[in-house]
Amino acid sequence: MKPKANIVDLPVYQPGKPIEQVKREFGLSEVIKLASNENPYGCSPHAKEAIVAELSNLSMYPDGSASELSEELASFMGVKKEQIIFGCGSDEIIALITRAYLEPGDETIMADQTFSVYKSNADIEKAVSIEVPLADGTHDLDAMLNAVTDRTKIVWICNPNNPTGTIISENELLRFMESVPKHVMVVLDEAYSEFVLDPTYPKSLKLLDQYHNLVILRTFSKIYGLAALRIGYGIGQADVIQMINQVREPFNTGRPAQAAAKAALRDQKFVDDCRQRNAKGIMYLQKEFDRMGLRYFPAHGNFIMVDVLTSGQDVFQSLLSKGIIVRPGFARYPSYIRVSVGTPEQNKMLIHVLEQVLRDVKSTV
Ligand SMILES: *Cc1c(COP(=O)(O)O)cnc(C)c1O
Repeated sequence: MKPKANIVDLPVYQPGKPIEQVKREFGLSEVIKLASNENPYGCSPHAKEAIVAELSNLSMYPDGSASELSEELASFMGVKKEQIIFGCGSDEIIALITRAYLEPGDETIMADQTFSVYKSNADIEKAVSIEVPLADGTHDLDAMLNAVTDRTKIVWICNPNNPTGTIISENELLRFMESVPKHVMVVLDEAYSEFVLDPTYPKSLKLLDQYHNLVILRTFSKIYGLAALRIGYGIGQADVIQMINQVREPFNTGRPAQAAAKAALRDQKFVDDCRQRNAKGIMYLQKEFDRMGLRYFPAHGNFIMVDVLTSGQDVFQSLLSKGIIVRPGFARYPSYIRVSVGTPEQNKMLIHVLEQVLRDVKSTV
């Protein structure tokens, strides 16, 4: 059997290590995972209740178009329900967009480093990824604009950017949207938007009517704490959403996920609490990194990318053996690790163990 040539060397996505595996490997009873930007406070209790209520409906297919959830979300965001599409995580929306819009040889522009899922899906469609280096950890929108050609179909902007955590401002985004040709779709991935407190952060939903080539991605996986259920969404002009809908599998989101998302959306108090706690966690970690003399990128999501001034991979391994899972392995930033913001106790533990690890590194060189 011969697979498609363009997928033969495609790497399998490397997720953060699961807690259970690390416990077994290192014989640890306590392990903290700060590797996948998960919500350390879980999810709204109402979301759990909604899932329990769905248990009597497991034999039934879901509403493939998630119409009730669409309606509630549309009114919450002030858009029409025809402007929303749900996916098995926003990861799936990324895949659907590339499936609907990228032909072999088309060009698509993204930052280097950014979320790896844009490129892997472009590869699957045999599109050409143009990776534009970040400038000091931030999207270089001028350079990305300069990379646009007649063949460019999609530009990906991850805001806040994963892994660096930096943001572009509304003014920067507006300037970009004004200059980018109308044949280019701009996908604004806002998986972490609900965490952002910076007043210059784009109010992107307001821009949808003005820029028909803008598509926004959001998710219930991060601040809503429903990563296990796999439900995210895209928002755009109805005709664009229609195209993406046409390449969607019929039942791509399940009943428990839709029910939990609806309940989670109604519990904005949970969201506000998580946002405040996260902001405190960011302040604590940044203050501690300052004290330790470690540089980091200004963090606007629920994670921080910090320069540990030695091999990030080595620090990852040492932290792992002491029961803390973080994220290393960023090609352009080999001396950095990305840490998710945990509970105050987890953050304290991270700093304590990281200091130990870095002291050990110093004493061995
Ligand atoms: C986590 C994340 C997503 C999507 O997560 P889903 O669980 O698939 O909704 C999308 N983009 C970025 C940048 C992320 O970090």
